[in-house]
Amino acid sequence: MKLVFRGAAREVGRSCIEIQTKGDRYLLDCGVKFKEDGFAYPKGVFDVPDLDGVFLSHAHLDHSGGLPFFEHKNLRGPIFCTAQTFALAKVLLKDSYEVARIRRLHPAFSRVDLKEVRKDVHTVRFNEKFRHRELEVTFFNAGHIPGSASILLELEGKRLLYTGDLNVKPNMLIQEAKPSYGAPIDILITEATYGYRDLPDREEVAKRFLQRVSEVVKAGGSVLIPVFAVGRAQEVLQILSKKKFNVPIYFDGMAKTITRRILANPSQFIKNKDRLAHMFYDVVESPRNQDERNAVAEHQGIFVTTSGMLQGGPVLHYLKHFWHDERSAVFLTGYQCKRTNGRELLDNGYVYLKGWRTKVHCQVEKFDFSGHSDRKALEGYIRAVDPKVLIIQHGDPESVEALAGWARKEIGCEVYGPGLLDELEF
Ligand SMILES: [Zn+2]
Repeated sequence: MKLVFRGAAREVGRSCIEIQTKGDRYLLDCGVKFKEDGFAYPKGVFDVPDLDGVFLSHAHLDHSGGLPFFEHKNLRGPIFCTAQTFALAKVLLKDSYEVARIRRLHPAFSRVDLKEVRKDVHTVRFNEKFRHRELEVTFFNAGHIPGSASILLELEGKRLLYTGDLNVKPNMLIQEAKPSYGAPIDILITEATYGYRDLPDREEVAKRFLQRVSEVVKAGGSVLIPVFAVGRAQEVLQILSKKKFNVPIYFDGMAKTITRRILANPSQFIKNKDRLAHMFYDVVESPRNQDERNAVAEHQGIFVTTSGMLQGGPVLHYLKHFWHDERSAVFLTGYQCKRTNGRELLDNGYVYLKGWRTKVHCQVEKFDFSGHSDRKALEGYIRAVDPKVLIIQHGDPESVEALAGWARKEIGCEVYGPGLLDELEF
């Protein structure tokens, strides 16, 4: 088999690995990368006519966002993913199309293409091996977001495992991934988002987060909590459920649709589902339009809303009401990409509100909740899988190098950190 790295090669974004066998061509993921002027697609993937199957690890757009473009180019092939991933990808792909249109980014596909993607999807169950052409395929829990999978392909007498995005540490929402795949793994393709960084203990982060929310509320301020729609939004609700606050909690933006989908399509790996359902259906309030948002933001409250990097969604609408109030706070709950409002707020204390660069006077703090494994966790995972060949991708060059250096020394397996369009043959 030959592997061609068409994205997420020494970068994060547009995940896509092509697998060529004797007569067939498959893809592991097909994502997009966000640029200021639109999306970057996997390199060269649309130039080859035949496609015999796509295996989708999870719903995030950096893994799924390229799918409608296939349909646009009339490249049809079955797309395999879990039912939960399908439920979430539908929402995220539709939203990416709407957002691209609103920002005049000329999305490279149309609404019709989104419908076509749905027709090609075959949903699969976790832990159940199935056959597709000459492949045997099994999806395992990856612990990253609801529905997320690591994908095991058995072909040409080899067992190849693609981790997708991976979380091997416990959190409130999803059971962590376990490194047990039935038999030894020949080729492990791992993500390396945090290949060179350790994250603080999640329980400690959650504790400090709750304490800080309490402090701000007690001092008379409001708390704005920007969240990612998938995973983080639900986990933040579960964490908030552990404490009583004497102010209302509001839940807004795309996180609402996603939470409904997660509760309607739970996999066996979702944890504390009742706690989440109770928070979502019985506790939080959900403003339905700008007037309602304006009305509730006039009073003290806790506002949990998308988008997580303050790039759109209702979050900026709320911020307009208390950016000048020193008693209030913005608590960021995830990674902030370069050139986003969230990063600008974190690094320099400014955001763009209605086109104006605005100095934010309320308190700003970041809490390191992550859906990925940190350096130590990745190392432990690789050690446990103990592959013959290790391929490292989905990480900055520093991350890939750090993990590769460690693996060469400690595991002694063959190690690769391929760049864009590099090919490996086994
Ligand atoms: Zn992801």
